[in-house]
Amino acid sequence: MDIKRGFIGAIGNTPLIRLNSFSEETGCEILGKAEFLNPGGSVKDRAALYIIEDAEKKGLLRPGGTVVEGTAGNTGIGLAHICNAKGYKCLIIIPNTQSQEKIEALTTLGAEVRPVPAVPYKDPNNYVRLSGRIAEEMSNAIWANQFDNLANRCAHYETTGEEIWQQTGGKIDGWVAATGTGGTYAGVAMCLKEKNSNIKCVVADPLGSGLYSYIKTGKISIEGNSITEGIGNSRITANMEDVPIDDAIQINDQEALRVVYQLLRKDGLLMGGSTGINVGAAVALARELGPGHTIVTILCDSGSRYQSRIFNPEWLATKGLVMG
Ligand code: PMP
Repeated sequence: MDIKRGFIGAIGNTPLIRLNSFSEETGCEILGKAEFLNPGGSVKDRAALYIIEDAEKKGLLRPGGTVVEGTAGNTGIGLAHICNAKGYKCLIIIPNTQSQEKIEALTTLGAEVRPVPAVPYKDPNNYVRLSGRIAEEMSNAIWANQFDNLANRCAHYETTGEEIWQQTGGKIDGWVAATGTGGTYAGVAMCLKEKNSNIKCVVADPLGSGLYSYIKTGKISIEGNSITEGIGNSRITANMEDVPIDDAIQINDQEALRVVYQLLRKDGLLMGGSTGINVGAAVALARELGPGHTIVTILCDSGSRYQSRIFNPEWLATKGLVMG
């Protein structure tokens, strides 16, 4: 018998999928951890679960309580599912630039959703900072604080990283992932480096994010922008502090779209934009390392969350982009 206990029991233990077309092109094994198969549909289910259970263990969240979070969508969706499964309320502050699909999913799940104007982190009305203040003013509420709450990367250190090590039988040369909070990249990098310090750990970054310049030069400088949702950052979060980073690779939107469309047409996988950045960077690392290497990245969420955007040529044209 193999029966998962409810929504929560079904989180994690996702398959590792060989991306055939990219593997054949590069002569490497390019493997994608199928996080879109988590029951809430993204890599963020794992962090959402660890954050909630950590707060429960610390006695911060009691029955009937509320989980408050500022999120680009996927963390909110994971939190909302888990709140329903555990009997909590969920309040989500989301920048109004995120896809309608994600906002509608949150509403369907019964979360209270407050879309707010997208302003930089230094502005006190930034969605993340706003969510912290709102949580503080409520009773029996926690602020999930995914960016700086280390329960986030702990989820990936204990589960995602360990699964990748087991699934590859330790035959892995490179780990590549884009960062939003950095929880996924950091937890997996910390786990894999402990197993084998020769595994090359590389941050993938879209334009409009400061990580690439920070890793290359030590200074955050931000140029350009990106249509990808849920990744890129203008600061170093607590989850990204003291984390092994060997290199960074920047991928632009048109290249990410080319990858997303190749995954769709040649590999049969309908993926979101951050997966395009991840696989694009995995391919770049494969070319750098040469044939015969194994590189693992994350298939973060499904393209069905972005139907009206990256799979809509009219919307792409408004951004000066074309289908890949
Ligand atoms: N891809 C998508 C679609 C996401 O929503 C997120 C999370 N914001 C990420 C990638 C990055 O994950 P993390 O927060 O663990 O860095």
